[in-house]
Amino acid sequence: MACASAFLRGVEIILRVMRVDVDDKEIKAVSAEESVPPEKLLRLLRSGRVVIMRNYQREISPKAVGECVSTKVNVNVGTSKDYVSVEEELEKARVAVNYGADTIMDLSTGGDLDETRRQLLKELSVPIGTVPIYQAALEGEKRPVVEMTEDDIFNAIIKHAKDGVDFVTIHAGVNLNSLERLRRSRRILDVVSRGGSFLVAWMIHNEKENPLYKNYDYLLEIAKDYNLTLSLGDGLRPGCISDASDRAKFTEVILLGELVERARTAGVQVIVEGPGHVPLDEIEAGVKVMKSVTDHAPLYLLGPLVTDIAPGYDHIVGAIGGSVAGMFGADFLCMVSPSEHLALPTIEDVKEGTIVTKIAAHVADLVKNGQRERARKFDDEMALARRNLDWESQFKLAIDSEKARSIRKNRPSQSDACSICGELCAIKIVKEALRKRGHEP
Ligand code: SF4
Repeated sequence: MACASAFLRGVEIILRVMRVDVDDKEIKAVSAEESVPPEKLLRLLRSGRVVIMRNYQREISPKAVGECVSTKVNVNVGTSKDYVSVEEELEKARVAVNYGADTIMDLSTGGDLDETRRQLLKELSVPIGTVPIYQAALEGEKRPVVEMTEDDIFNAIIKHAKDGVDFVTIHAGVNLNSLERLRRSRRILDVVSRGGSFLVAWMIHNEKENPLYKNYDYLLEIAKDYNLTLSLGDGLRPGCISDASDRAKFTEVILLGELVERARTAGVQVIVEGPGHVPLDEIEAGVKVMKSVTDHAPLYLLGPLVTDIAPGYDHIVGAIGGSVAGMFGADFLCMVSPSEHLALPTIEDVKEGTIVTKIAAHVADLVKNGQRERARKFDDEMALARRNLDWESQFKLAIDSEKARSIRKNRPSQSDACSICGELCAIKIVKEALRKRGHEP
């Protein structure tokens, strides 16, 4: 014990030397939550393979994202121009956290953006992320997006950082070079990232370099001042199966790798965002290349969606892709809701999407280095509860206890088994046979 506490006392000093702003209290908390020894966690933090997202100004439970720690789930909420209800977005966020969301991103584009963000920051004790370019693009004097100024962009980032936002998506990888690759590609859907589209349109209109790329050092200074984690957005992510894994995407990934290196040198925590829409057999290569090119920065994926033809079920499509991506190294999954591609999600959509994405994250953890043992304990406990026909324990262990309980209640069995087989329950039959032979389980 004495050794461990001496070690932890040294942690803060070492992290400061490495210019990683995390204190020993956070190390202890994350180490206990993730069942990862503090020494190992420290090594991962120093290398940038794990980040702990927390703005200096917030008192929240620390969340680690990256290698060896559990796969995290982000849930997007936010108003749109067509539908503005701060209270409903707050409720979506509450529901998401209740069902296990590790972080919330506010993607609001309608109504009072400051009010929505500040309410979320006030009420929630999980890391909050934003995409400040939305505010920069939409809040001006009712001018077109392409007329936002460089100051508009950086003022929005500073405002969000000052408010306490813990991580921000920054589309600094869309530059004139990657734009040229996009021009030469034969995509069906050129750009599907909202922030990416703002910057692409801005660069084309103004015939200038992306301000976030050009002034990246300034951006790093802001991030450093607030311990703001940068989530390097994939502005050129493919938006359909046909466009997956093309030159435009990988040009941006190479650039993101360079931006990761510069962030780490400046002592700024950084993660990398990924696609999007990817067929199942391209996920492994995509994840491994992104991990390699970005020197194993934590990888944050939307989906990926493994088919384009299931609107209404895109949460399931995303969870299939997310599970496979997690198996190959993705660390952070963004919830996809059933209303993806169709409409602003309802509270029920957010609940459904969160649960399904949590399942994908757990499926990934069952085979993830550092988490395998911890994750499998839950499955083992469930298996034992099933063997014992112990329904109460099964409900407690279920990712969605409420649904499991309600299904059983609505279709009861005459026996202590379930109504699928009733008295012909395989578990009961074999248990009984073993008992008769004196083999008590
Ligand atoms: S009744 Fe059939 S489905 Fe239900 S617990 Fe027993 S074996 Fe499983």
